[in-house]
Amino acid sequence: MRIAFLGLGIMGRPMATRLVAAGHELSVWNRTARQHIDGANTAVSPADAAKEAEVVWICVADTAAVERVVFGDDGALQSLHEGAIVVDSSTISPSATARFAERANERGVHWVDAPVTGSKIGAENGQLIFMVGGANEPIEYLDPLFKAMGKLVIHMGGTGKGQAAKLCMNLQLALIYEGFAEAFTLSQKLGVDSHKLLELIQASMVRSGAIDYKAPFVMRRDYSPNFPLRLMHKDIHLMLDVAKENRVKLPALETVDEIYELSSEEGWDDLDYAATLSLLEKWAGITPKAAK
Ligand code: NAP
Repeated sequence: MRIAFLGLGIMGRPMATRLVAAGHELSVWNRTARQHIDGANTAVSPADAAKEAEVVWICVADTAAVERVVFGDDGALQSLHEGAIVVDSSTISPSATARFAERANERGVHWVDAPVTGSKIGAENGQLIFMVGGANEPIEYLDPLFKAMGKLVIHMGGTGKGQAAKLCMNLQLALIYEGFAEAFTLSQKLGVDSHKLLELIQASMVRSGAIDYKAPFVMRRDYSPNFPLRLMHKDIHLMLDVAKENRVKLPALETVDEIYELSSEEGWDDLDYAATLSLLEKWAGITPKAAK
């Protein structure tokens, strides 16, 4: 297929690379200059990338970025043909997604929201899980592309339901990690061996895939970004906004949001969200020691 891929960040670059490897014809664009992807054309604007495309796949930071790359002066919609499909794998607002889809539909363009889970390693290995919102027909048409990048597609419902599900899932992720970080901080003050604590967690019902993945990084105090703190913080704000719109109280998440605010003030936005542990350690007067 002829695909325009917009956004070559931590997730977008490996996703686009896998589409090229699967034999698709890609035209890629990124806001700031990035290295070329072998086998892909490098476009000068989203409109340039989209001019021959059947599918425009987006993976950019946030709602404003999606609006810019689709509806901006040099946005993809300027050159898209009727019947083309826009697929958005960024994590953005479900209500903005509904508005974007309506604007695209007015021009005869389909919109599929397809946010992902699996992080950088899942994108590199083609093991992403897509949670998808939109109509059956374009989603079925996209099947070979989903297969090139992921291991599972769950069709959550109509437009915006993929984004809604993604926020509900990341809500749990933020709280699971905070639970681990608090337990890990207390355990250090109590003199519990970190390796033994992890052995216990992994052998017990408390075990979680998220912590299995993060724990080795935490033990090394390696906070190089897989999922940058600024992006989890953005997601927390999206969750709190939809909760407010729907009159739902999320007291634990409100507290976690404060931790992200303070971590951001520390200048940790571009570190992995696992770095929020450092704030708890700082409050507890712990000098972290990287374990082997
Ligand atoms: P990232 O590495 O920060 O990349 C963000 C991308 O968005 C870059 O290409 C950036 O361009 C572009 N961008 C930002 N603002 C823009 C704007 N105003 N106009 C046009 N482009 C803009 O982020 P990522 O980790 O790839 O995440 C991308 C999306 O996937 C986010 O919505 C994130 O929440 C979601 N996600 C991430 C993960 C993960 O583990 N990392 C997992 C699941 C979902 P520049 O290079 O010019 O800055």
